[in-house]
Order: sequence, then C-alpha cells, then structure tokens
Amino acid sequence: MTIVDTPERRQLRELTRAFVTKEVLPCLDDWERAGEVPRSLHETAAKIGLLGIGFPESVGGSGGDLLDSILVTEEVIRSGGSSGLISALFTHGIALPHMVASRDDGLIDRYVRPTLAGTMIGALAITEPDGGSDVAGIRTCARRDGDHYVVNGSKTYITSGVRSDFVTTAVCTDFPGSGALSLLVIEKGTPGFTVGRRLEKLGWHCSDTAELSFVDVRVPVANRIGPEDTGFLAIMQQFATERLSLATQAYATAQRCVELATRWCRDRSTFGRPLASRQLVRHRLAEMHTRAEAARAYVHDVAERVAAGEPVVTEVAMAKNVAVAACDFVVDAALQLHGGFGYLRDAEVERHYRDARILGIGGGTTEIMNEIIAKGMGL
Ligand SMILES: Cc1cc2nc3c(=O)[nH]c(=O)nc-3n(C[C@H](O)[C@H](O)[C@H](O)COP(=O)(O)OP(=O)(O)OC[C@H]3O[C@@H](n4cnc5c(N)ncnc54)[C@H](O)[C@@H]3O)c2cc1C
Repeated sequence: MTIVDTPERRQLRELTRAFVTKEVLPCLDDWERAGEVPRSLHETAAKIGLLGIGFPESVGGSGGDLLDSILVTEEVIRSGGSSGLISALFTHGIALPHMVASRDDGLIDRYVRPTLAGTMIGALAITEPDGGSDVAGIRTCARRDGDHYVVNGSKTYITSGVRSDFVTTAVCTDFPGSGALSLLVIEKGTPGFTVGRRLEKLGWHCSDTAELSFVDVRVPVANRIGPEDTGFLAIMQQFATERLSLATQAYATAQRCVELATRWCRDRSTFGRPLASRQLVRHRLAEMHTRAEAARAYVHDVAERVAAGEPVVTEVAMAKNVAVAACDFVVDAALQLHGGFGYLRDAEVERHYRDARILGIGGGTTEIMNEIIAKGMGL
C-alpha cells in the first residue's frame, strides 16, 4: 500500500467517483458548449466536502493534505471528467492558498470560507499581456493612497476570471517591472475593475478564461495578503502545489486515455480481427501505459516529499515535465488508435487531446521548468 492508498483515501476516491458520475457526466458536454460550469456545481461539491479537500477545517476546509487533493484531481479525470473541469471547479486551489498561509482572519472570513462553501468563486491573476513567464516583470501597479491602493494595469488568460467574485491579483508596489510585488484581493464590482473579454480557446472549453482591466481601482489596504513587497515569495511558494496539480492532471489524462484506447482496440475490428490482437497495437498500448504509470509514480513520489516539507523545487519542475511529456504522447497515440472517430467531438479522447495542450504552458511552461531544472543542476 502506498501512502496515497489508505482506507480513508479509498473512501475519498469513491466519493469523488460518485460525484463525477452523478453531477458531472450528464452535463459536461453542455458546460463545454456553454463555456463555463454553473455556480451550483461549486455548492454541490462543497456540500459533500470535496471543494474543501486540502484546506484545514480551521479556515472552512475539509482537512486532508496535498496528497488528498492530488487523489481528488486524479479520480475526477479517471472517472470521465477532464482537466478543464478541474481548472474551472478547483480554481480556488490557486486563488486561496496565499490567504490561508497569511493567517489573516479578515481575508479568511471574507473570501476563504465562502469560497470553500461554494458560494463565492475566486481567481488568481498573475499573467499580463506583456508576459507570464517573467513574474518579476509584472507591470500592473498599485500606488498607496491613504488606506487604499490605486491599481492600474491589465491581466490576461485568467482562469474563472469571467465568473469570479474576487481575484487574487499580483501587483507591483514599486515602479513597474521592479519585482517588488504584493498580492491584493480585488472584488468584482469595484469601480474601474472590468472583465475586458471572455477568451476562446483550443481546449478547456468548460473553464472560462478572462482578460481583466484595472483603471484607477481603489482597493483597501486590508485586502493586501501579507506584508507589502512579499508577493513574489508568496507566489513562488504556492507554485509547487499548482505545478503538481497540473502534473497530476497530465498523468491522469494519460491514464484515462490508455483506458479509453484499450477499450476501443478490444472492441474495434479491422481486416477481420480486433485491433488489440495486432502486435503493433498491443505494443503501442503497452508503451502508453508504461509512460502514464511511470509519470504517476514519479509525481506521487515528489508530492509525498513536498507534503513532508522537503525543498524539492527542481523535482517538482521535473515531475511536471515528465507528466506532460507522457500525456502529450498518450493523447496523440490514443486519438490515432481511434481513427476517424478520435477526431470527432463525440469521442472523449478528442476532448483530452485538446485539453492536454495547455498543461505544458500553464503554471510555468516546459521551457521555464527546464530553466529551474538546469539551475538545480548548478548550470
Ligand atoms: C487556458 C489558460 C489558463 C491560464 N490560467 C491562468 C491563471 O489562472 N492565472 C494566471 O496568472 N495565468 C494563467 N495562464 C497564463 C499562463 O500561466 C501563461 O500563459 C504561461 O505562464 C506562459 O506565459 P506567456 O503566455 O506570457 O508566455 P511567454 O512568457 O511570453 O513565453 C512564450 C514562449 O517563450 C518561452 N520562454 C519564455 N521565457 C523563456 C526563456 N527564458 N528561455 C526559453 N524559453 C522561454 C516560453 O516557454 C513560451 O514557450 C493561463 C493560460 C492559459 C492559456
């Protein structure tokens, strides 16, 4: 039994699977067409304790740790959900942790508890039109004016930004591009804060993505997370969790596609024999399975080390790249094995193929992960 596989976690897996089967599968295609998931889904997931997994009960969560969150992510996708659904329903996984870590009761009561109860939706806004990889280069600035900040700038590609009630926003609290960053919680409806555009995408269709604009937006100083100019460190500290979540989405998508392709190759016959009887096809499936399993094992290993408090920044970057590479290989092979049907919207592999492409871009690109790995090698 691995650490991830305890009796409690098996129960959590069953709870997740039942939730996806009952609440998600009948509606996912509609949400993909609508471009978002309904608010009611957040409330339903909160009621059964799913939304709060990985957050302490003292802030309104359901308890559990990083490994429990990983298990939920894995099971949502393996039950027929998708990484797009994870990004939409669990955006709070990136919007809230900085507030929880700050132990600011005011922010926890106003934003963390209602979000974990499913009555508020939060987003995290770091990326700007001028660039996302260079976090220190952020240009959206916040100028202090009494007990407020005045925020000007714009953000883009923000997950759940269209639906969110508040946005945990990275701002520069010195001159633009100085790297002196702070995090401010900015509420929808604050004058000057607008959703410029709902962005259309290759995949993650059920997850809304927004461009945000800030023109002289007055934000109370009380909405700052932690001391001024500590935002860069806070962002970097939470990146491990986000990257491991994306790595999990990658290997779980790969596992799901191995299952779908295996089923298809058993059922589909060509030239009078099932596809699965051909050595070429069997070996292809074996290779897909091997890559998915190797990625899962490595991501679990690194996640266990993160949960134990080990400083494994390099390993987290490697885990993300390993899982994304496995996923890219598997989704492509799974679609190919489905033939023409794989290219149709009716095929689940088609959605995974499109959804998978973001996993090597979001939360730090494959190239940025390689930079981190190279630094870890002393290069
Ligand atoms: C669907 C979706 C959802 C997203 N959700 C969010 C969100 O919720 N919040 C948020 O803040 N952001 C979000 N993002 C943004 C995402 O994190 C960024 O797109 C990503 O970090 C890359 O930044 P960029 O797009 O500005 O690319 P750039 O930084 O402009 O990079 C462009 C290319 O150059 C490469 N590159 C950059 N620097 C180097 C270098 N030094 N050496 C070698 N290669 C380099 C990159 O790897 C990339 O291939 C989302 C993006 C998408 C598409």
